[in-house]
Amino acid sequence: MADPRGFLRLPRVEPPQRPVADRVGDWDEVRRALPPPERNRLIRDQATRCMDCGLPFCHSTAVGCPLGNLIPEWNDLVRRDLWALASDRLHATNNFPEFTGRICPAPCESACVLALDDPAAAVTIEQIEQAVADRAFADGNVRPRPPATRTGRSVAVVGSGPAGLAAAQQLTRTGHAVTVFERDDRLGGLLRYGIPAFKMDKALIDRRTDQMRSEGTEFRTSCDVGTAPAAAQLRAAFDAVIVAVGARQAREIDVPGRDLTGIHPAMDYLVGANHECEGDGPARIRAQGKHVVIIGGGDTGTDCLGTAHRQGATSVTQLDYRPRPPDRRDDDKTPWPVRPWVLRTSPAHAEGGLRRFHVAVQRFVGDTVGEVTALVLAEVDPHRVRVGPEFEIPCELALLAIGFDGVAPGPLLDDYRLARTPRGTVDCDHRWQTSTPGVFVCGDAHRGASLVVWAIAEGRAAARGVDEYLMGISRLPAPVGPDSRPLAPP
Ligand SMILES: Cc1cc2nc3c(=O)[nH]c(=O)nc-3n(C[C@H](O)[C@H](O)[C@H](O)COP(=O)(O)OP(=O)(O)OC[C@H]3O[C@@H](n4cnc5c(N)ncnc54)[C@H](O)[C@@H]3O)c2cc1C
Repeated sequence: MADPRGFLRLPRVEPPQRPVADRVGDWDEVRRALPPPERNRLIRDQATRCMDCGLPFCHSTAVGCPLGNLIPEWNDLVRRDLWALASDRLHATNNFPEFTGRICPAPCESACVLALDDPAAAVTIEQIEQAVADRAFADGNVRPRPPATRTGRSVAVVGSGPAGLAAAQQLTRTGHAVTVFERDDRLGGLLRYGIPAFKMDKALIDRRTDQMRSEGTEFRTSCDVGTAPAAAQLRAAFDAVIVAVGARQAREIDVPGRDLTGIHPAMDYLVGANHECEGDGPARIRAQGKHVVIIGGGDTGTDCLGTAHRQGATSVTQLDYRPRPPDRRDDDKTPWPVRPWVLRTSPAHAEGGLRRFHVAVQRFVGDTVGEVTALVLAEVDPHRVRVGPEFEIPCELALLAIGFDGVAPGPLLDDYRLARTPRGTVDCDHRWQTSTPGVFVCGDAHRGASLVVWAIAEGRAAARGVDEYLMGISRLPAPVGPDSRPLAPP
């Protein structure tokens, strides 16, 4: 039984970070790795703060963890120094805790009972998750789990982001012959080429896909399904297909001057920077020595911010048309355990740059050779209606981080004639099957741009849908249905 008074004795301690001056000079993770004895002590104390509250909203898929992570259970195992068992409980619901332990925005923490009065008092669940996962690898407790028997059925997974990888691992372990097809030259989807290395070391993807290879999953990179192989060819060669292609159709901005050079979708910038970090040569779009303006106040914009600082930008300004969120939870609008609408500051914000709220771009200004030199902004209301005078700021590189409009068009979706939702994502039934029999969908391609934890949850759930389709019955767990509601256990 957990320590019911631990949280009264022990304060919340945030994950330690490297000093700003050090970290902006490299691409290593912002979080500072502690020597094992110190880390173990810190994490045990933090886990001891979990009181096993009886109604753990943290692991409820409705408001907490979409994976239904058994958080109070592994917290108590860590408190009792039973790290290997904690890892087993963690892996029981999450294929890739070393990813989510680093980059999840942790809805579990805002749903923690300790956050009832003060969101800053929640158990540091994400930090504990990372430590359990990292130690499990270090101690040799994450071993390949190949299936005991083979079913003789085959599945193609298109896309190697967290959704495709989770689905592939589940289906391989249950005995199907799974091949993952990836258009990029390396595996991982947005984990590899969207999210910067300072948030998550890319070696972790290789370590996990090595484990998957040892279990029997096959990978084919630089394979654009729909072109080569053709969609019909793939369907004919496999008993089922999972479409896990993400939702990369970038939104555009329609203001005068958009055609000037120096204005790019954020993903073009981040993908280039990530390739450079992988050793693929200098990126085409670089921030060095430039006044950079990021249009969009969300996570993608914040990743551009951290990247631009590491590339030596002269100045970085991040714009958001929305009002500045409050510092504290508004209990009427977002009462606990709902995720509060509050100002979120990521480590990249502590590294410099200016955040401006309530402003929208009116036009881009260029020089005689057609390069962007400035942005004209105006204050706006929440509906983006102008309420203040125009003003100009310098801008030599503008990055558009204003969201995504569903799945990018292409022959894969057309050839399978997949029905789409009004949001531009792929529609499916309650078993994750699309309008084409034997073709399934999961992750951002189904839910729209979302989170890694949701991608893993959907990958796991779609795997069960595929297994049922192939075998008539499945014992694979599925944390959520396509409507995001929890499913009854199998
Ligand atoms: C810049 C950025 C930062 C983010 N930061 C965070 C974060 O910190 N925390 C968090 O939880 N979430 C974050 N997200 C969201 C998260 O990355 C996504 O929700 C998640 O990666 C979706 O997983 P997925 O597997 O559905 O798709 P993706 O990760 O997009 O993977 C889809 C894969 O399919 C491949 N593919 C597409 N078409 C084909 C084809 N025809 N043939 C073969 N392969 C194909 C793509 O190349 C890609 O590798 C971020 C997103 C962005 C854009």
